[in-house]
Formats: sequence, structure tokens, C-alpha cells
Amino acid sequence: MTCLECNVELGYVDHKNSMDSLGIELCHQHRTRMEKLNNQNGTPIEAIQLYYGLKEVGVSAMLEWWDGKKSIDIAISRVKLNIIVDCEYHMMTHEQAINDLEEAMHSFKNGFTTIRIPHVLIKHYLKETVHNIIGIMEGLRANIKAI
Ligand SMILES: [Zn+2]
Repeated sequence: MTCLECNVELGYVDHKNSMDSLGIELCHQHRTRMEKLNNQNGTPIEAIQLYYGLKEVGVSAMLEWWDGKKSIDIAISRVKLNIIVDCEYHMMTHEQAINDLEEAMHSFKNGFTTIRIPHVLIKHYLKETVHNIIGIMEGLRANIKAI
């Protein structure tokens, strides 16, 4: 049991606290940092889990990346991929839907691809989610080369 961020050995208490709070193995210092992000910026726990899931397979992403207009949950700048973790439980209104579509349009115009991932998917299918994101990255990389 080591911290996913700094590889420091975790004691029983640190490990338990981190698993209870975030569901991932982090030392006290890095757990506190992520809890702060969750409390102050509203970063979904699942975005943090996905970030570390990607990190584990060697994908370097950025958490809470500011794109100039808004904060993106996870950004993978090498392939200009933005990932938004959706936590909405209620039905989407048409206003929200048109806002999402407009946001998608703006990011496409800037050369970015935005995908939205429901938080329950990360909760139950983290490995598969990571696997598919890697596939999307490969596709984007091929397209960038083609241009
Ligand atoms: Zn650490």
C-alpha cells in the first residue's frame, strides 16, 4: 500500500481514511489536497478516481484545468481532450442540453474534443472507462497526425 501520488508507504490508518474518503490510496498530505479540491472547487470524487486511474496506466492528465472560460474536470492536453464528469441525477432540461451543445461547439472550434462521462460509470467500470479513453486518445492522435 503506497500513495498513488508520491509512493510513500501508507500505514493502516492513512490507508483506511483515504479509501473511506476518496476510494483511492493516498497519503495524508495528498488526500487532504484532493479533499480540498472536492470541497472548494466541487471536483467530483469520480474525477479524482479517473485522474489516478489514468495516471496508473501512464496517461498524464490535468485535474481542474482552466480553459479560459471554465474549469474542466480532466484535460489531456497532448491530444486536446477534455473530460467532464457528469454528476447530474435529474433529467436534463432543454436549456442544459443546448448549453452543453454550445460548449461542445466552442471546444471543437478551438480544436478540443469534449466527452462527458457519467460518474456512475467511473464508480462501476473504472478500468473499462480508462481503456476507452486510451482508445479515444489514440484516435485523436491519429487525426492530429493526418492534419
Ligand atoms: Zn502522497
